Amino acid sequence: MDKNPKPTPEELRFVYQMILNGYGDTDILNEYAHLYDMGQLKFPYRVDDRFIKDRRKELQAASEVLEEHVKKKADPVISKRRDEHFERLAKVADTLLDNNLHTVVPNTESSAGEPQYLVEVDWVSSGYPLEKSQLTMILQKNIGKAYNLFEPMYFHKNFLPHLRAEIPIINIKGIWDFIEEQPYELIENLRILVERKTFKGTCPICEDWQ
Ligand SMILES: [Zn+2]
Repeated sequence: MDKNPKPTPEELRFVYQMILNGYGDTDILNEYAHLYDMGQLKFPYRVDDRFIKDRRKELQAASEVLEEHVKKKADPVISKRRDEHFERLAKVADTLLDNNLHTVVPNTESSAGEPQYLVEVDWVSSGYPLEKSQLTMILQKNIGKAYNLFEPMYFHKNFLPHLRAEIPIINIKGIWDFIEEQPYELIENLRILVERKTFKGTCPICEDWQ
């Protein structure tokens, strides 16, 4: 058996809590022994204080980062700026869904050679059909529109880093190939972002707010 199995999250919480409550390494190991004797120890029985010392180091480092992070999260000025930033990014995502891409769905009835997607609009009861290549073309056109509304620089320097964090495959393929190969996947992700109005990752505007 592994003599030093990795701690589970539950065990980490137990040790961290004791450290934060001011217990020394020996006290904590005694608590392991005590729980063990009572048949209540839910983790491996630790006897080596190096295990506790390592947790202490981790906790110290994590608390420093966390404290800073929580402070920024709670800062009303930063929080307002972040909301406005996300709002603007969501507007870019929304612009990319112009020309009815909000309502496009896979055409489940399509057989070989038929359009693979349907756009649901109220003036065509069954929706109007689109080929995958047409989705690509509409997305490219919408990016042009986003360039006009938000500046190409904003699109590439601010919106794209966030989009890449949401859809990591764009890092490998690049945005243009991704749009060509998987336009519908992009559309699905954009819809989520428009709804959610929060974005993973950072860009030059928000990198200091995280
Ligand atoms: Zn950003």
